[in-house]
Amino acid sequence: MLEAKGLMVFYENMLALNNVSIKCADNQIVGIFGANSAGKSTLMYTLAGIILDMQKKEAMAGGERITMMGEIRYQGEEISHLKPSLRARKGIILCPERRRIFKESSVIENLRIGGYLASAPQAKKTLAYVFELFPTLKHLQKRIGGFLSGGEQQMLAIGRALMAQPKILLLDEPLLGLSPLMQSNLIHATREICNKMQIAIIVTEQYARPVMPIVDYAFILENGSAVLEGTRQELMDNPDVRSAYFGIEES
Ligand code: ATP
Repeated sequence: MLEAKGLMVFYENMLALNNVSIKCADNQIVGIFGANSAGKSTLMYTLAGIILDMQKKEAMAGGERITMMGEIRYQGEEISHLKPSLRARKGIILCPERRRIFKESSVIENLRIGGYLASAPQAKKTLAYVFELFPTLKHLQKRIGGFLSGGEQQMLAIGRALMAQPKILLLDEPLLGLSPLMQSNLIHATREICNKMQIAIIVTEQYARPVMPIVDYAFILENGSAVLEGTRQELMDNPDVRSAYFGIEES
C-alpha cells in the first residue's frame, strides 16, 4: 500500500501540488485525472522520488528552488527522503510521460536495460511475459527504439518498466497522442498486467473516459489540488464529473 499525505510541491513560488493526499492499495488500479498543468506529472515525480533529483540539479545549477513537503508511506515505511533508485528497488517504478525510451537502442536492448535490477531468471520470465502481452515487440526486437511508432514506443516503455519488477507501477499519461485503437489495447494491457503480475498501478490521464472502466478508485486534480475522489461507480454517478471529465452532458 502506498499512501501520500499532504504533498506540497513548489517550483520557486509556483504551487504545483497543494496538500494532495492519495492512496493506492495492493493490487489496485488508481486513476489520477486532471487537465493540462493540473499537477499529474509532478505528483508522479514526487511519488517516484525524481523530484529530489530535480531539486538537486536545480540547486547545483543555481536555478529555481523546488520545495517539497508531505509524507509518502510505502508498506508502512516513510520513503519521502529516499532517492529514486532506492524506491525502484522497493518496487516503485515510474513509466514517464512521453515514453522516454532509449531512442538509439533496439527494443531488446531497452528491455534488457529495464531488467538490470532483476535476477537472470526473473528477467527471462518477465521478458517472455512482455512478449506475450505485446507480441508486436517480439516481432520488432531488433528495431531501433526511435524508429517505432508512438504506440509501439509506449508498449516498449511499459515493457521496460515491467522488466524492473514493479510492485507499484506509475504510468504517467500512457495514452497521450495515441489512436483510439492503440489506447484501447493499452488499457486492456494495463488491467491484464495488474491481474497477472498482482501489482498496483497508478495511472494519470487528462481524460478519464477511456481509463475509467479499469480503475478501482480515482482522484481528480485541479490546479494542484485533489478536488474529488471515489470509487469508479461513485465518480461515474457524479454529474459534475460526468460532464467535466467524460464529456457527457446531463439532459
Ligand atoms: P500535463 O498534462 O501538461 O503534463 P500535468 O498535470 O502533468 O500537465 P505538471 O507537469 O505536473 O502538470 O505541471 C504542474 C504545474 O507545474 C504546471 O503549471 C507546470 O507549468 C509547472 N511545472 C512543472 N514542472 C515545472 C518545472 N520544472 N519548473 C517550473 N514549473 C514547472
